[in-house]
Amino acid sequence: MKLTAALLLAPLALVAAAPKPSTHVSYDGYKAYRIATGQDAASIKSKLAKFAAVQFNNFDFNPNQELDVAIAPTEIPAFEALGLKADVVSQDLGAEIAQEGSLGSYEKVSAQAVPSLSWFNTYHAYNDHITFFNDLQAAYPQNSETFTIGRSVQGRNIFGIHLWGSSGKGSKPAVYFHGTVHAREWITTKVVEYIAYQLLVGYSNDTVVTAILNNYDFYILPVVNPDGFVYSQTTDRLWRKNRQTRSISSCVGTDINRNWPYKWELPGGASTNPCSQTYKGLAAGDTPEIRALVNLTQTLANGRGIKLYIDWHSYGQYILLPYGYNCQVRAANHARQTSLASSVAAAIRRPYGSRFTYGPSCSTLYATTGSSTDYVTDVARSELAWTVELRPTSSSGNGFVLPASQILPSSIEQWEGMKYLFATM
Ligand SMILES: [Zn+2]
Repeated sequence: MKLTAALLLAPLALVAAAPKPSTHVSYDGYKAYRIATGQDAASIKSKLAKFAAVQFNNFDFNPNQELDVAIAPTEIPAFEALGLKADVVSQDLGAEIAQEGSLGSYEKVSAQAVPSLSWFNTYHAYNDHITFFNDLQAAYPQNSETFTIGRSVQGRNIFGIHLWGSSGKGSKPAVYFHGTVHAREWITTKVVEYIAYQLLVGYSNDTVVTAILNNYDFYILPVVNPDGFVYSQTTDRLWRKNRQTRSISSCVGTDINRNWPYKWELPGGASTNPCSQTYKGLAAGDTPEIRALVNLTQTLANGRGIKLYIDWHSYGQYILLPYGYNCQVRAANHARQTSLASSVAAAIRRPYGSRFTYGPSCSTLYATTGSSTDYVTDVARSELAWTVELRPTSSSGNGFVLPASQILPSSIEQWEGMKYLFATM
């Protein structure tokens, strides 16, 4: 996206002449389809095997789900000749990526000044997120500190911000957020940052926010998969996994939300194929990102305990409750989690009318093994452990590539939902 910005600034004649950077995966002319898989997932999968299709959702284990794929321009005629029951959801994925907007720039604010809300008008590079959090923290030194829990495969810091209220640092149960678990889900980074921002800006000004921060310690990590995030910005906008290599394959990346050391070994909710989008790794917790996150999770669990955990994802507009590994099992407090999710969905809907579906993860969306919410529920004993899938819905276009103009609306509706949840849970 940075390269696109540079090209836009160049004279027009130069743009026409400039070759596409060879390192950047182009989705120009790619058409995205939603395929109704019905009960025939295996046969559809085998028909698709010869296509270099980009798979959006977790197809392998969901015979009743629809499958979203992007097809390369040269393969569109052959794909359409298959005669599958499919709707076109994007006429040109490359155009949607262009429409998302180029990455914004960020100027470090002067000492102790609050960063501007204009931060939420565009997407930003990984290093800018670090600067933004450092600036935000510096403006509220009495109620916050930044922290680093470890490094990614390629040595990038996995960082976060810790917020607290009048009882002092670390004295209350934890509210714990992970953003950008999957690299291409950029909107999640912005939404968790917006929540951190509103908590700090509202403290001492807004009675509801003040009470919230006095009741909980917040641990907000905006980019838990930094290598994948950077790769999705420099090379492949639709990258999902981390950037770990394996000696058994030339394919890169493990899905870190299939690598948590709980129910990892069960079949049916992740892939053992290193080339798959949902590759689970060779052993439970064998990614540095998950090792660091498990350590933090256990530290929080053994401290004041975890009241609420949310794993932030996109897309589909869901609030997903435990469990992912089994479609029949329910959390012990399932009724309470459902009733809270229902009220949160209503609060999210108020500003712009966005409808969020809620229910247990496995039965509402699909089976997952080695996922964070199952671990945080059963091992770390969090009272509430949800996955939120942000805008857009499955039935509108754009998918992961949410236009920058929707960063603020998406953030505002989630803040409404979260404010309600923090105040009532
Ligand atoms: Zn995701």
